Amino acid sequence: MDTPPTDDRRTTTAPATDDRFSVPLRGVAVDPETRCAHWDSAVDVVALRFGCCETYYPCDACHDAATDHEAEPWPRDRFDEAAVLCGACGATLTAREYLDGDSEGQSPSGNRAPPDDGEAQRAAGSRERPDDDACPRCDAAFNPGCRAHRDRYFEV
Ligand SMILES: [Zn+2]
Ligand SMILES: [Zn+2]
Ligand SMILES: [Zn+2]
Repeated sequence: MDTPPTDDRRTTTAPATDDRFSVPLRGVAVDPETRCAHWDSAVDVVALRFGCCETYYPCDACHDAATDHEAEPWPRDRFDEAAVLCGACGATLTAREYLDGDSEGQSPSGNRAPPDDGEAQRAAGSRERPDDDACPRCDAAFNPGCRAHRDRYFEV
C-alpha cells in the first residue's frame, strides 16, 4: 500500500547477482523487497535459495529465466542453513524456520499441550501466530499460497 510497486525494478542474470541484497540474489524485474515479474502482490516479499546454485530467487520462474540449468530444491540435510530471505527486513531464515513458522529453535518435545487448550495458548503467545505465514523477525506477511508449491523450493 505504501510501497510503490514500479520503482527500482532490476533484472539480474547469472553470473551476476543483485547488489542491493546481502545475499546472492537474481531474478526478473525484482523490486527492493524481492517482488518479481511473476509474483508481485503485497505479500510476495520472500526470496528462496536453490540447492543447485545456492543463490536466492523470488520464484522458480525467476530462477529459470536467470540461469540455464534446472532448478533443484533446497536439500533437506541443509534445512538448518539460511535458505529464505525476507525482502521486507533483509533477514535470512533457515528452511526450518520458514517451514515451521511456529517455533523458535526447538520446542520441548514430550511436553505437548492438549490441542483443545487454545485459550491458554493464545494468552501466552499472542505475539506469535503459529499458523500464519509471516516473517519471525519483522512480522511481514508472507504469501500463504507459497505453501502449495513448497516442494519446488524445499526437498520433501
Ligand atoms: Zn540454480
Ligand atoms: Zn519471479
Ligand atoms: Zn522480515
